[in-house]
Amino acid sequence: MGLGGHAGVAGAAQACELDKVCAESVQDLMATIAKLDSNGVQVVPETPAQPSPALVHSSTDSKAAGPARAAAATGAGDPNEDWCAVCMDGGELMCCDKCPKVFHQYCHIPAVEKLPEPTESWQCLLCVNFAEVPEDGVGAGAGELGGRRRRVVERITLELYCQYELSLQFREPALYAAMHHLQPMCLDMIRMKLQPRSPDRYTHEAQFVADCRLLFRNAYRNNPADSQIYKDARRLEEFFDAQLVKWLPEYAYWSGEGEPPAKRSRLD
Ligand SMILES: [Zn+2]
Ligand SMILES: [Zn+2]
Repeated sequence: MGLGGHAGVAGAAQACELDKVCAESVQDLMATIAKLDSNGVQVVPETPAQPSPALVHSSTDSKAAGPARAAAATGAGDPNEDWCAVCMDGGELMCCDKCPKVFHQYCHIPAVEKLPEPTESWQCLLCVNFAEVPEDGVGAGAGELGGRRRRVVERITLELYCQYELSLQFREPALYAAMHHLQPMCLDMIRMKLQPRSPDRYTHEAQFVADCRLLFRNAYRNNPADSQIYKDARRLEEFFDAQLVKWLPEYAYWSGEGEPPAKRSRLD
């Protein structure tokens, strides 16, 4: 979840042609990153102090317990994947009891503050059946994005991250946004705003949808239509709209600009 690495890839070619602009842009970018850190983006701990038996190290760790290992012992083979569904890295991973996905504690959305007990079953948010999650009551959580609405927004964000290949270049602030003085937006910023303690936290799902649209719009405005990043943005946005159709249908295909759809027009 570090902020280094891929941020500059998309804008690199343009940046080389514009050395001066590039230098300023990098400063802008670094300022953005510094802001992100000060707002509490969490870092995956290298070595958790108390490894829990609910975790797996890798498929070679025969001592690990938990449902996944139990299944392996019965001859079904390890039903869980070896790499975190969000970052495709290994290490201390939490196994979902319902699907093959595994996650780092702080890669899952929401971050899992307290590791499940060895005897506790744990399911990832992608496996939550929202048909069983009660609708928020009228006026529930006014001024805060809470309850079912919050879970739905977290779910959609996690779905976007789990589109690993497509989402990779949209996770960190894009250099081209800083170069063209666009409002930067990226998945890590969206994820940060989902944290209840964030000073910029979302108070309404319309803000979340608007940020996602801004992310895609930036990609379209700054990349040729035949570029890979443009095509990836299109595919990821189509996936995003498919998620909205499922979970927040009134926002599907809403541009994110101007008034939010009528049914949810109340911006707290
Ligand atoms: Zn991870
Ligand atoms: Zn799952």
